[in-house]
Amino acid sequence: MNLLQIRKMMLFTAQRMVESEPELTALDQIVGDGDHGIGMKRGFASIIELLQDEKFQPTDIGDFFIKIGTKLMTSMGGASGAIFGTLFRTGGKSIVGTMELNSEVFAKFLNDGWQGVYQRGNAEPGDKTMVDALSAASKSANELTHLTLNEALPIIAKSAMEGAEKTKQMIAVFGRAKNLGDRTIGHMDPGAVSMAFILKYMNDYIHM
Ligand code: ADP
Ligand code: MG
Ligand code: MG
Repeated sequence: MNLLQIRKMMLFTAQRMVESEPELTALDQIVGDGDHGIGMKRGFASIIELLQDEKFQPTDIGDFFIKIGTKLMTSMGGASGAIFGTLFRTGGKSIVGTMELNSEVFAKFLNDGWQGVYQRGNAEPGDKTMVDALSAASKSANELTHLTLNEALPIIAKSAMEGAEKTKQMIAVFGRAKNLGDRTIGHMDPGAVSMAFILKYMNDYIHM
């Protein structure tokens, strides 16, 4: 995929994320403090604005994702503003100079992005955060670099959703959710669902 195609894919993804606000709000009302949906909506609404601005002309795919990350970080706020901003910024930095997104580049983006998120927030898989979806997606992407991005992305997106599903059984140790203890058992972590949704909507776009 070239820069223009990725720009269209991310515009579609941002629109779907904005529409997902009620679902994410409902989850954070159970597992957190109820503001995750509003934060994601605010963040991705500002991504829509950015991507519709003709003056926004990133030089390459890495630069594109870095700027998405910076925008998320400055517009969203909350734990997830820093976390999702860091994912796109660190992932973007590791692929600076790339003009074509393929499954290998995407695997690098996810894995290095995950490392950035870990350095920022210290969450490990099993801690009931977006890392449970991101780590599942990253590991899956590593095994699929022999496929085209078109073939790999549905599988990566599915792995992320399975990672999010698994957070149902986990007890949160980070953020507001940790105060709720085992009351969060049986419910998915909102950030993990957001992570899975982002990859799902990217995949929906390229298979439309
Ligand atoms: P806040 O917790 O500040 O209200 P949000 O509700 O927007 O922020 O986001 C909560 C989500 O952020 C959680 O569901 C979780 O997935 C993610 N999160 C929180 N802390 C961390 C962390 N240290 N590392 C990774 N993700 C985290
Ligand atoms: Mg919250
Ligand atoms: Mg909050």
